[in-house]
Amino acid sequence: MALVCLWALGSGAVGVKQGSAQTLVDSCGFFPQISPDGQWLLYSPTEGTSLMLKNLTTGTVQTVANEGYPGFDAILAQDGKVYYVTQQRKKNGLLYRTGHCYDPATGKDQVVLKPQHGRVQPLHAARGVVINGERQVYRNAKQVGAYCYTRGDMLYLVDEAGNTRALQPVQDSNGYLWASMSPDGTKVLFEAASRGLFVCDLNGEYITELGEFLMPCWYNNDYIIAMNGANGSRVWLLSLDGEVCKPISPRGERAVQPMTAGGKVVYSLLYSGEVKQLELDIAPVLPPAMAVGKGKTEKVKNPVNKKDVPRVFINPGHGGHDSDDRHVPTWVIGRQDTIHYYESNSNLTKGLALKEILENKGYETAISRKTNYTEDDLELFEIVALAANSGADIFFAIHSNATGVERRVNFPLGLYRGWDGKPVVEGSLKLSELVMKHAVKNELAVWTDKERSNGDWSFYDWGYKVGLGVLRFNKLPGMLSEGSFHDYLPERERLMNNNYCWLEAWNQSLGIDEYFKRNKKFQNGVLAGTVRWRDIFREDNEVQMFNEDRQLTVNGAMLRLYNDRGSLSRVYNVDDLDNGVFVFTNLMPQKYKLELYYGNEQLYQTVKIKVKKNQTSYKNLTLKKNQKPLKK
Ligand SMILES: [Zn+2]
Repeated sequence: MALVCLWALGSGAVGVKQGSAQTLVDSCGFFPQISPDGQWLLYSPTEGTSLMLKNLTTGTVQTVANEGYPGFDAILAQDGKVYYVTQQRKKNGLLYRTGHCYDPATGKDQVVLKPQHGRVQPLHAARGVVINGERQVYRNAKQVGAYCYTRGDMLYLVDEAGNTRALQPVQDSNGYLWASMSPDGTKVLFEAASRGLFVCDLNGEYITELGEFLMPCWYNNDYIIAMNGANGSRVWLLSLDGEVCKPISPRGERAVQPMTAGGKVVYSLLYSGEVKQLELDIAPVLPPAMAVGKGKTEKVKNPVNKKDVPRVFINPGHGGHDSDDRHVPTWVIGRQDTIHYYESNSNLTKGLALKEILENKGYETAISRKTNYTEDDLELFEIVALAANSGADIFFAIHSNATGVERRVNFPLGLYRGWDGKPVVEGSLKLSELVMKHAVKNELAVWTDKERSNGDWSFYDWGYKVGLGVLRFNKLPGMLSEGSFHDYLPERERLMNNNYCWLEAWNQSLGIDEYFKRNKKFQNGVLAGTVRWRDIFREDNEVQMFNEDRQLTVNGAMLRLYNDRGSLSRVYNVDDLDNGVFVFTNLMPQKYKLELYYGNEQLYQTVKIKVKKNQTSYKNLTLKKNQKPLKK
């Protein structure tokens, strides 16, 4: 038996009780929570669409809830009740979240916290559960004791008296997650995404660093249970003194989402959703059998969000120039040199641009990375948890595509969780269609096909309902935008221009505006186009190119933009990276005159163009080889 061998491998005498491994649920059980008395198991399917409670003595299973995506962050409390949150999407796209309490003894379900925008999260406190919302909170620390939680890269500690302190024990993290207080209430355990597990005291003073683990929880005051990355993952036992650090789940199982209570450790298997249980030969902390005072809803003193503006979680793909990044060395005619294209670079440029554009439009945003290092390549569970923690209304992942074969194509593709036409999370298909609608209007690109929106289960054939990792376990309406194909050479040349990446983000914002019914709200528009030679063609004929992309771009052209009063408002210099791209951002809607200059600042063309409110106007220009400059 595998466990015996693990036992022998362990450093020190502690470990798994022999023969304690048990299967509690044989499929589709995720985020398992066991009650401290070992009687009850709470779990949900991959998509969080329902919440199930199993009586481990009788084997009977009851549905706690099956509307509003109640799964994932529900808590099975010491008082035997289930605390959970549902979400409801309003007509304006905003998600409102409601706190519930379910009593398995009576089968009664009660709304304990009325709907509010932003993050609403059940949390373990010293003597019970609170449901923590940004505006209103169910129960308070005076009733249930101290607790902690994370938002962005801040750790919040609420003491017995109800005072909240914001701490930042670790710098340069992509966000804190999974904070919990030790059973004796003296320490706080949390994960700093991209940095690993940390334990600090109640002043945020660093105590110890436990390495790269996820989803940690306290076994007792000295031991912690956690998992390592989702791929090849196992459940680990870690001691606070650093003496013990060893896997306790069998090798090869892909064990995820560990949780422990009353000496039992439960976890799920990544794809099957089988729920397993282990017991350790270490004394657990038994919870105090303490009655919790009747709850009431508390107004939070300093609400984070004053008005309900849409909140977008941006995930600009994987970080770092590692093997999973899509690196393509590219010979650039205009430079007579090789430039190194990395998908992670253009994804981040688009992500940061989208963040800025949306914030200027009055949205709130959160982003999974701001830099491009290997450490920014977060685990999928971290990204899902960061998105949930941000209280976002939508999840938006940004990538570019590649055929992976010789044949070249170029079209925008939106992917959402589910089957074609049947998204798991309501709203995802609509979001994808709106974003793709604006993406394909981009006239700087040469498209080979029209835009597509597909469910990831239909699109990928790598297993029934497997789909994209980053959309799995994500219950926000969401999508992954494969804006264009970077292995189509001319498209890659465009993606090496940051303004072109900005334009993609801007067009995404137009789709997002429509999703939230805010497209009429914004004033400024954008003007963009390309400059190509009408009669000079590319000589790299071995490369597959379509239509206008066969024409050489006019590297080094200059564009001057004059407003309707005739004064110069902007100048744009076309780069020498073979893309011919020009983009004028943030323009007042009106009629403009656009002048094209080339060579010795000679004027070749003048065109009139209208910029419309919160839209993109396109103007592609061409020059002829023997064209004479205009007289000014
Ligand atoms: Zn990618």
